[in-house]
Amino acid sequence: MVSEIKVGDKVRLRKAHPCGGYEWEVVRLGADIGLVCLTCGHKVFLSRRDLQRRMKEQFPKGDAAK
Ligand SMILES: [Zn+2]
Repeated sequence: MVSEIKVGDKVRLRKAHPCGGYEWEVVRLGADIGLVCLTCGHKVFLSRRDLQRRMKEQFPKGDAAK
């Protein structure tokens, strides 16, 4: 659930970033959630609602290297 998201978590979005990457790391929490693309380093901000809609999977911190 997005409500349990924490800084450092990795998430996978339904739609690929233009760089081809699907995985993002949470870098900021607040009214908007900051995400950094793990493939190209691009930073975006999404509202929690947007993130919930776009997110496919969430990996708890330390569990994304698999
Ligand atoms: Zn990217």
